[in-house]
Amino acid sequence: MLTKKLPSLPSFLLLVSRRASHLTRQQYDVIVVGGGHAGTEAAAAAARVGAETLLVTQKIQTIGALSCNPSLGGVGKGQLVKEVDALDGLCGRAGDWAGIHFTILNRRKGPAVWGPRAQLDRQRYREFIQSELLGTPRLTVLESSVEELLVTEPNPEKTGRHRVAGIRLANETHAISASSVVLTTGTFLSGSLFVGQTTSPGGRIGDAPSSAGLSHTLKERLGLRIGRLKTGTPPRIVKDSVDLSLAELHPPDGHPTPFSFLNTHTRCKPEEQLPCYLTYTTPGVERVVRESLHLNCHIQQDTKGPRYCPSIESRVLRFPGRKHQVWLEPEGVTSDLLYPQGLSMTMPPDKQLCLIREIPAMHRAEIHTPGYGVQYDFVCPTQLSPALQVKSTQGLFLAGQINGTTGYEEAAAQGLWAGVNAARWALSMPPVALSRTESYIGVLIDDLVSRGVTEPYRMFTSRAEFRTSLRPDNADLRLTLKGRYSEVGCVSSLRYTEAIRVRDNLQDAMEALETLALSTTTWRKKLPNIHISENKNTMLKISALDAVEYSDVSFEMLASVFPEYLSAYSEFSQRLKIEAVYRPHCDLQKKEIERIQKEENMSLPQDIDYLSLPVSMSQEVRDILNRVRPSTLGAATRLQGITPAAIVHLLNYVRHIG
Ligand code: FAD
Repeated sequence: MLTKKLPSLPSFLLLVSRRASHLTRQQYDVIVVGGGHAGTEAAAAAARVGAETLLVTQKIQTIGALSCNPSLGGVGKGQLVKEVDALDGLCGRAGDWAGIHFTILNRRKGPAVWGPRAQLDRQRYREFIQSELLGTPRLTVLESSVEELLVTEPNPEKTGRHRVAGIRLANETHAISASSVVLTTGTFLSGSLFVGQTTSPGGRIGDAPSSAGLSHTLKERLGLRIGRLKTGTPPRIVKDSVDLSLAELHPPDGHPTPFSFLNTHTRCKPEEQLPCYLTYTTPGVERVVRESLHLNCHIQQDTKGPRYCPSIESRVLRFPGRKHQVWLEPEGVTSDLLYPQGLSMTMPPDKQLCLIREIPAMHRAEIHTPGYGVQYDFVCPTQLSPALQVKSTQGLFLAGQINGTTGYEEAAAQGLWAGVNAARWALSMPPVALSRTESYIGVLIDDLVSRGVTEPYRMFTSRAEFRTSLRPDNADLRLTLKGRYSEVGCVSSLRYTEAIRVRDNLQDAMEALETLALSTTTWRKKLPNIHISENKNTMLKISALDAVEYSDVSFEMLASVFPEYLSAYSEFSQRLKIEAVYRPHCDLQKKEIERIQKEENMSLPQDIDYLSLPVSMSQEVRDILNRVRPSTLGAATRLQGITPAAIVHLLNYVRHIG
């Protein structure tokens, strides 16, 4: 059995900053550009798969930085964290190390849509990620800015596609070559920062944008379609200046639930957790927003911002007269700051101060750092394959905010998958894909590559058709085994062994529960306080598996009645209860999934001449198919503007040419 211990980190961490001239090699299998949430997962995953990997990022000290909210997980997002962890990624374990307030959101609903979430200590999160990268074999970290992406011209006689050759760094003349490059430049591609009427180039406060050379290669040389999006962040508030007695106290869960399948506890002890506070906007907030609109460039721009995490300006303008929630969240154990979630704003700093002081708990509050907005370029993700590789450029992979998503979890999930596939490409292994029937990562990638984005994309449980099967509790069973050598290759033997142990125990326990069958009368004697419904056929027995489905029957109760059969599995009591409750539904879904998988997996040849398909298909449909070039029939089905009739024509055509 695993010794489930959190690692101990040195109190002071220093990553070795390397100059290009000191690199031990000038050629790598994989180069990852950007050390944010996508880049760190991509680099670590590529190295785990076996590729010699170089991570180049502007500043080593910002590796693992939380640019906006100090929190991880939530409804839909928590599922992504669990899946990244199941594939041996970093963010789940980093969350367990850095978490200072753990809650399971949606607990009143079923476990399928529970949202594991934690407030994080920013410094601890960075430390953990940096320490992990430093300890990853085959991974080199370089502090520099990538000035140019090197690509070869397409050879019409071969693939007709560009091919990645490597990168060139700022202030360096020579190239570093690689078979694959993963771009994870976040909000930095042609990034501009906005506060009030001031605009300046930047990817994040204190950080320069990505070089114009990189944007130029993507747009001009590779001809990629690029869009523009925006987002913003709230001012950080001095904690001592806030009257927290005027806000509602929200304590964390009594027992923190770790994100990682490898951890049984979090670093933060239950009693060490910090509370959050809830307060509300007032009419005065709306007044300040309206009075300062003419001084607020960011809000006047048409560029699309995050719909589900809007600025206070957008909220007030969209829903006038309403009271809006503002969460006051701790930024860390030793931090003197609070993060006011819900108050993202871009008005001038003096107006920001007026606005926050309109909220009673903050009537004397001081701002440490003003809020600001950022606008940035993204690459329309329908130009990517399900491996997150740019279809027109061999060896070029994109992940994170550059693909039009928002959020750390969405970035981490894509980063891991792009890193896996970049390594596989470099090592001449076939690409791997995750389907939407087996994971939220599959849903995320499929939505991006087959539907594209018109506004920053974030994950919700409602996006997953099979959410009762894609639960946070079973991500290890769905993904860890697949993540081992043969199929994906990014899962360590330690994690694999643990997942096998869990799977075998769960199977044995389910069998034991199914075998233990008693009559209703005997159940009533064994569990007198529980209402087991009358069975008309008194001869018919009820199994312990059926009994544990009752809301007032727990696995522990059954184990106390049948210790000789069940006590060995007490460690898994909550998982067994969830498995039992969802079993009937999941059995039905399994059949539906099998049907869809057949369609899902039917490959569409990449050289189909869609424009000359039969005229029974409209020109519009042919244009969409030609532009997106979906890799499977399932992906074609989900394209906007593609009718069921068009799918039938396409299916017949592919069968005909096949
Ligand atoms: P990032 O975390 O941005 O990392 C990009 C990395 O690439 C950085 O380390 C940068 O230094 C590096 N880099 C860039 N160009 C180069 C280059 N040429 N060479 C070398 N390195 C390079 N998310 C939400 O969910 N809700 C929000 O409300 C929200 N608001 C935000 C507000 C602001 C102002 C910002 C900046 C971000 C906000 N986010 C928000 C987004 C969240 O921070 C991102 O979704 C997440 O960090 C994306 O991860 P990423 O890895 O794609 O990019």
